[in-house]
Amino acid sequence: MNAVVICLDTVRFDTFWMVERTGLEDEFSSWAKRAIRFERAVAPSPWTLPSVASLLTGRYPNAHGAGVYGDSGDHLNTRLPAPLSPDVQTLPELLRLRGYRAVGFVDQSFFHPKFGLVRGFERVGLQVGREKLASAAESWLRATVAAGSTTPFLLYLHFLDAHRHHMKSEEEILSRWETVPERVGEAAIETAPGDLCAAPDANWCRAYQVYAHSIWELRASLVQILERLQSLALLDRTVVVVYSDHGEEFADHRAEQVRRGTDSRGIHGVGHGQSLYQELLHVPLLAWHPDRPAQRIDAVVNLVDVAPTLAAWLGERDLGSEWDGQSLAEPERLDAARTVFASEVAFGPVETAAFRGNWKRVVRTEPEERLLFDLSADPREKDPVTRPEIEAELDGLIDDYRANARPPGPGVMELQKAELQALQALGYVGDVEAE
Ligand SMILES: [Zn+2]
Repeated sequence: MNAVVICLDTVRFDTFWMVERTGLEDEFSSWAKRAIRFERAVAPSPWTLPSVASLLTGRYPNAHGAGVYGDSGDHLNTRLPAPLSPDVQTLPELLRLRGYRAVGFVDQSFFHPKFGLVRGFERVGLQVGREKLASAAESWLRATVAAGSTTPFLLYLHFLDAHRHHMKSEEEILSRWETVPERVGEAAIETAPGDLCAAPDANWCRAYQVYAHSIWELRASLVQILERLQSLALLDRTVVVVYSDHGEEFADHRAEQVRRGTDSRGIHGVGHGQSLYQELLHVPLLAWHPDRPAQRIDAVVNLVDVAPTLAAWLGERDLGSEWDGQSLAEPERLDAARTVFASEVAFGPVETAAFRGNWKRVVRTEPEERLLFDLSADPREKDPVTRPEIEAELDGLIDDYRANARPPGPGVMELQKAELQALQALGYVGDVEAE
C-alpha cells in the first residue's frame, strides 16, 4: 500500500465544506461523497511549523519542540522558531527504514532543511503555486509507474494557495475579487462566518470571497491528483489523506483581541497563529482508502492521529514510534472520552487548549484566563460557560501537558538572507537578522 498526504495550508473547516453546505457542486463533490470524513479534527497548533511537525511525527508540540517558544517572551515575529527536535522520529524516517520511498513537493518555506520537516524524505521539491505543484506530483507518479517500481511510497504535497492572498492591500483584494466567479462569491457570502458579509461590498467580505475562491481552486487540484492516481491504476493500492495545518481568522474574535492586546504583531482578528479559537484549529481532515467505505466520523480527533493511522493503514503498526496520537483506522473503536490538545500560539503569551467531546477548555497566561466552551451549543465560542467539575478535570490535564513540555529549543536559528525573506514574504517574521 502507498500513501499520499496532501496539506492545504490555511484552510478552515467551514470554508472547505462551503460547496457541500450550499448545495453547489464541483468536480470534487463526488470524490467527497466517497471519502472518510473527520468532522471534528483539531489542529495541534494554529500555525504551520508546529502543526505540520505534529502531523509528521504523531507527537504534540510539547514533545517534538518545533515552533515552541514556551514562556520565553519571544514570538514568531521577533525570533525564528526552534526546529523539530533531532531525537523525535518522523513518519518518513520510520517508513524508509521499512523500505518505503518518501518524496515531497511543497510550496512552504518552513520545509527549509533547518526546520527539520524534511527529515526522512529522500527528496523535497519546492514548487510555487498549485498548478506547478500538482503537475510535479503527476510527473513523479507517472515516472514511478513507468519505471515499473513496486517499492511502496509516501508522497507528501503541501499547497500554499489559500495563504494570505486576502491579507494584501485593499486594491489587491479588489483586483483578486474581480476574478472570483459569481456563484463562488455568492456561496461564500451565504456561508461566511458570523456577520462578516452583512455588507457584501465591504473589504472584509470581499477578502473572504477571495479566500473561499482559492479553496475552490484547491479542490480542483485535489481532483487532478485523485484522477491521476486513478488513471495510473494506483488508487486501489494507495491511501490518500487531505488535511489543513490550521485555519484562518476573518474577524471572528477581533473585538476580544483588541481588548486583550496580546497579539505581538499589533494587528487584530486576521491571519493565523494568534489564538486557539476554532477558526484556527478546526480543520478539514479526510481520507480515501481502497477497502473502506465513505464514512462521517464525529469523534474529536487531532492531526497527531494521522501518523499512527497511516502506519495502521499501510500495515506497519509496529513502526516503533511513541505516538501521542492514536490510530483512526477503526473509527468505531475511538474513545469518546478521549482528550486532545492544542498549543503554541505564534504571536502572544502561552495558551493551551484541551478538547473532550463537546467541551473545550482554553487556559491562557499573561493575563491568566480560563475559558470553557460547549462547542455543540456555541460553536463560535462567544459565551464561555461554567462547569466546575469539567473545568477541574481538563485543567489537570492541561497542567500535565505543560509539565511534560520540553524547554524551548536553542536560540535563533540562522538563515541566509534569501531564506529569511521567503518567510517574511509569508508575513510570518519581522525584523530578524539574517546570517
Ligand atoms: Zn500553515
